[in-house]
Amino acid sequence: MIPMVEAQRILMELGPVMPATTVPLSEAAGFALAADIRADADVPPFHRAMMDGYAVRSAAIEQYPARLRISGFIPAGQASSGEVDADCAAKIMTGAPLPPGADAVQRIEVCREAGDGYVEILEPLHPGRNVAVRGSEFPRQAVALTRGHLLRSSDMGILATFGLATVPVFAKPRLALLNTGSELQTVSAPPRPGYIRNSNQYTLCAFYAANGFPLHARGIVPDTTADISTALASCADFDLILLTGGVSMGDLDLVAGTLKAEGFTIAVETVAIKPGKPLVVAHRAPQLVIGLAGNPVSSLVQSALFVLPLVRKMAGWSCADNPFHQAILRETVRHRPDRTSFRPGRLSSAEGTLYCTPQADKGSADLFAYRAADCLFTIPAGVPQLDVGERVQVMPLPGFQPVAGGGE
Ligand code: AMP
Ligand code: MG
Repeated sequence: MIPMVEAQRILMELGPVMPATTVPLSEAAGFALAADIRADADVPPFHRAMMDGYAVRSAAIEQYPARLRISGFIPAGQASSGEVDADCAAKIMTGAPLPPGADAVQRIEVCREAGDGYVEILEPLHPGRNVAVRGSEFPRQAVALTRGHLLRSSDMGILATFGLATVPVFAKPRLALLNTGSELQTVSAPPRPGYIRNSNQYTLCAFYAANGFPLHARGIVPDTTADISTALASCADFDLILLTGGVSMGDLDLVAGTLKAEGFTIAVETVAIKPGKPLVVAHRAPQLVIGLAGNPVSSLVQSALFVLPLVRKMAGWSCADNPFHQAILRETVRHRPDRTSFRPGRLSSAEGTLYCTPQADKGSADLFAYRAADCLFTIPAGVPQLDVGERVQVMPLPGFQPVAGGGE
């Protein structure tokens, strides 16, 4: 049995970063950049009016109200040709380029149009007022987004601003899921005595998809060496094969043995955490296989702790690790202190402090404990109890949104 951080380190070292590719801009969110992105132009690309109003040569105005002749009209999308003289004002709309000669825009609310071709500027203004100077938001040629950056919605606008119709990104790893267990039946089959439904497939597919890594579910695999071998062989096209079940000590837990017989090297077999002690990590270039525990909560927790950081790294993310925060425990929890435990909790905050409410939890098969959970909290090995008010480490469960209105 190895510590969790050791298992995570081994996995992160084994996972190859996928090759660079390109995707259309409209599909790029959720990928990590494979190259630095530089600004192809200043932002804004010209001195831009930030208000609807009048562009004036403010430095030349001596007293207010100032009566100025309206010399033109500049809507957004149109460059002004004429120079604005000291005794003139050009009507200008938000987003339009400031005309030559002008140095400020007075907003329309503090101007009075006389109706005779003149406007009165009622309030004083300084040079630069209501003008976004060319390049002031972002200068041309500077690096706007770095290689490894995970592209989110706001980044899409940045890429569009710089004209990237196609975007250099790292490919995402292709992930297959095999659910082992001779007791498993499909969800739609009529229930048979002694069988259980393959719930893990649905939990895990939704979890990975919510985190941007769709799984290809390849169905149920009976607990025989031959069936497991065949199923592994059918996943030759995948970068990472996830299995559930068959990784503990039972007579029919055949995953690790089959992988060895197929020429895979086993790098991890058990990890000192609860739930999720049995975790098989095996590799045979270029493939990586992870055997997750069969119990529904175990496979979910192992996915959050081990597999997500790995697949993010494989997808080129520069920040692949799960974030942990500190929170104050809302209830006392007891613990069999042989291994570090991860329990379901629910986060809330009050006056700037983060709180974690433990969720009633019957162990590694109890998915119902996660109905209102949005985080895992840690109880370290050797700690028999954590008291209400104590600090705990919490990891927001990626893809589990906090439920609105709920803290308690
Ligand atoms: P195993 O590690 O194969 O012994 O499985 C541990 C427990 O998880 C057993 O009670 C299994 O029936 C259950 N289990 C295994 N695979 C699944 C699955 N795909 N869906 C739901 N429960 C499962
Ligand atoms: Mg099994």
